[in-house]
Amino acid sequence: MSAIEPTQAAPADQDALAWEYAPAPESRDIVTIAPQYGLFIDGEFRPAAEGATFATLNPASEEKLAEVAKAGPADVDAAVTAARHAYDRVWGPMPGAERAKYLYRIARVLQERAREFAVLESLDNGKPIRETRDVDIPLAAAHFFYYAGWADKLEYAGFGLDPRPLGVAGQVIPWNFPLLMAAWKLAPALAAGNTCVLKPAETTPLTALLLAEVCQQVGLPPGVVNVLTGAGETGAAVVTHPDIDKIAFTGSTEVGKQIAAAAAGTSKKVTLELGGKAANVVFDDAPVEQAVEGIVNGIFFNQGHVCCAGSRLLVQESVADIVVERLQRRLTTLRLGDPLDKNTDIGAINSREQLDKITELSAAGDAEGARRWSPPCPLPGRGYWFPPTVFTGVSQSHRIAREEIFGPVLSVLTFRTPEEAVAKANNTPYGLSAGIWTDKGSRILWMAQRLRAGVVWANTYNRFDPASPFGGYQESGYGREGGRHGLAAYLDA
Ligand code: NAP
Ligand code: MG
Repeated sequence: MSAIEPTQAAPADQDALAWEYAPAPESRDIVTIAPQYGLFIDGEFRPAAEGATFATLNPASEEKLAEVAKAGPADVDAAVTAARHAYDRVWGPMPGAERAKYLYRIARVLQERAREFAVLESLDNGKPIRETRDVDIPLAAAHFFYYAGWADKLEYAGFGLDPRPLGVAGQVIPWNFPLLMAAWKLAPALAAGNTCVLKPAETTPLTALLLAEVCQQVGLPPGVVNVLTGAGETGAAVVTHPDIDKIAFTGSTEVGKQIAAAAAGTSKKVTLELGGKAANVVFDDAPVEQAVEGIVNGIFFNQGHVCCAGSRLLVQESVADIVVERLQRRLTTLRLGDPLDKNTDIGAINSREQLDKITELSAAGDAEGARRWSPPCPLPGRGYWFPPTVFTGVSQSHRIAREEIFGPVLSVLTFRTPEEAVAKANNTPYGLSAGIWTDKGSRILWMAQRLRAGVVWANTYNRFDPASPFGGYQESGYGREGGRHGLAAYLDA
């Protein structure tokens, strides 16, 4: 993750690894942030009917970025009505090849305006520019590009000869990958012929609103995409609206359960992408330096605000000491600070609320007897920050081994045999993802067959591709996003 090669010989003095770098800030001039934003309904921006607004902050500085309209029930109704109208009159009847042209245009404009999106995402979310630039924005564009290709080939997708769209989709997304989650929701829904009402997270509304501007820019017919900013009540009003045919939700298991309960007994189709507590399993034959890179990527990418984060490291007992020692050495080279600096590895925690949650769960780790370690890491005076943290001496019953922390905190457990690794990895109410690090192909297959997780990565971690389905088992939710499977959620098939 940093410019220092992990394979280079370690100097005796660990502090010597933390080289000083000159600041390399990305300019924020490329982005124009308006003081006020409206709701995007029927192709136009407008204030909320009741005039309510809320502020969105830069979590790295606590500076207010903009005042954003807060959608109430009347706005939800207006957006659903616009989406229904667009579905009936324009988007539903439109040939797939025509719909595809709009999706390709959105993909292309996302690429053209990638730097603007990347800077805005880092400002509103707190994540490092290197990640928004290299991961969030390119993957969002790739998602639109990929699903554009399906729009005129739905009869070949394996869902029958004449798969039909569902109608109006209500889509609610979290703050950890704001633009990317919007792309995961909108692209397959639109390709399949549905229209959308999207509710971004309260703390990260700005890139969804810029995407709404892109919808205007490419001439997307009014009402096909509507963006309603607001908080949890806005999300609840979207998913409970009687004229929504399909609910797509990404967020916490707690809210997911409420949504599933509210949709029970209605004809709404529901997909839920929820939390996780993934095991990243390192065997004694894995190349240590590569595994360490994978562990770092698994839990410290995006400050650990990743549903599929490798938050439980399961390391074979015979190599546990060396893996932890190398990991600690590697963590001393991570740079925490200004998200707009191109050298930054660890950015800000997205909100005060999330910081409090991480702090509270880490304190529970101390109280239950695990050993906490963080590299020397001065934190900026303003904003929300948490240092990269490793807990060793963790047992399966500890809260930090069971609950999703959603922060840069790794819990280390050990195992002796592959059977024990599987048992411990599967000992969770979740089941979103897992990682395996070993030199043996046969062991990868043996493990992958037994791990109850929607995605299993082997000798890599947090790797995403629009062609590859993603989703969970158990309390991680149901339904798949990405790939051909992602279309199923939006087709009456
Ligand atoms: P959250 O509280 O469940 O919020 C997710 C979204 O739902 C936000 O837009 C939120 O609005 C909205 N919301 C809140 N209460 C609602 C309600 N009663 N009805 C309808 N919508 C409601 O989750 P979060 O804490 O922001 O996000 C982190 C969680 O998301 C983690 O558990 C993580 O694992 C999960 N996640 C899963 C995936 C995946 O693909 N499986 C991907 C990313 C994140 P506000 O923001 O205004 O509260
Ligand atoms: Mg914000």
